Amino acid sequence: MPCSREELERREGQWLAPYAQRSADTRGRAHAEPPPEWRTHYQRDRDRIIHSRAFRRLEYKTQVFLNGTGDHLRTRLTHTMEVAAIARNIARALRLNEDLAEAIALAHDLGHAPFGHTGEEVLDRLMRRNGGFEHNRQSLRIVEELEQKYPGFPGLNLTWEVREGLAKHRPKPALPGSPRAGGELPERQPSLEAQVADRADEIAYYSHDLDDGLEAGLLTEARLERDVRLWRRSARQVREEHGVLPDECRRFFTVRCLIENQVRDVVRHTELRLQAARVDSPAAVRRRARPLVGYGEEQRRWNLELRRYLYQNLYYHPAVHEVNTRAARSLGALFRHYLDHPRRLAVHLGRAVPPADRPRALCDYLAGMTDRYVLHECRRLLGEESVSAPGLFPSQSPKGS
Ligand code: MG
Repeated sequence: MPCSREELERREGQWLAPYAQRSADTRGRAHAEPPPEWRTHYQRDRDRIIHSRAFRRLEYKTQVFLNGTGDHLRTRLTHTMEVAAIARNIARALRLNEDLAEAIALAHDLGHAPFGHTGEEVLDRLMRRNGGFEHNRQSLRIVEELEQKYPGFPGLNLTWEVREGLAKHRPKPALPGSPRAGGELPERQPSLEAQVADRADEIAYYSHDLDDGLEAGLLTEARLERDVRLWRRSARQVREEHGVLPDECRRFFTVRCLIENQVRDVVRHTELRLQAARVDSPAAVRRRARPLVGYGEEQRRWNLELRRYLYQNLYYHPAVHEVNTRAARSLGALFRHYLDHPRRLAVHLGRAVPPADRPRALCDYLAGMTDRYVLHECRRLLGEESVSAPGLFPSQSPKGS
């Protein structure tokens, strides 16, 4: 007999910690639907995210290095998959709801503009007088309105808890029937699963940005060992445990240790904080003044050091920033083109848009584009070579796998 949702919910009840979010206790979806048969509510959400168009487009969106400039470099999609893997790992260790943490992780960057943060800044500037642009808010717009797949509702109709995780620091999603009866203390934090996804995002990008910086030849192991304590600790650990390793293997393994050290630190310190706070339910977690999932003090300081280092040596390196800035300019060119040619916009959107709504409709359209589609559209509509075909980073040799 197939395993039913009820059976999965019963197992969650046995396995999860008291402060974990049980799928049976979901506040539900904005539009009523029959419950899933063989999946929990959060497993259904995860599947809906993976089957969305916005998710598939992540493959051709920039993480840090302009998409297409190196076959080994992270894209927004591989970043998302790494975040989901780390989030599941931490959630499982803490007996939290792995499916919820995974769903939030998989959806957390759906709203990212093409060309990474540079693209986001460009769109935000273009939308300054019309409410601005911010990728977290856009992730919510995508799952609540913009994806059009289901006959009964716009968006993906995800559960409240997944949307809570995407809302980050903004007011939590309002939903009819949400139990916020009078007398209850205000909810100040999202679920532990959402906090885990947030930390996993940070762990993933710190480690893979270092790895990509090395891959592209913009960072060196020698300088990292001198300047970044986090790297030094992992590099020493690898030397002590494995002696001298071939170059690539040493680099991969050092990054692997870096991730493992961070995960271990988060699990240990979160466990301590959970014990000290004596939280006994997801509601108690949401009432806390501060998040409970996080690093210990030393790790937090070391991460700040790494962050500063990456800003000084990688994110604004001309080989990264200037290339992205040149590419992101084409977003501005397309924006102006479509504002001047509303009929062309209507053709693409499949509907006429009243003038007052055009900037937002256009922003949604452009934010949803992949990097290569923006460049393709620029060439097609404006005949512009807004960005010269990006070259490959020199270290992208075919060696390795
Ligand atoms: Mg991210």
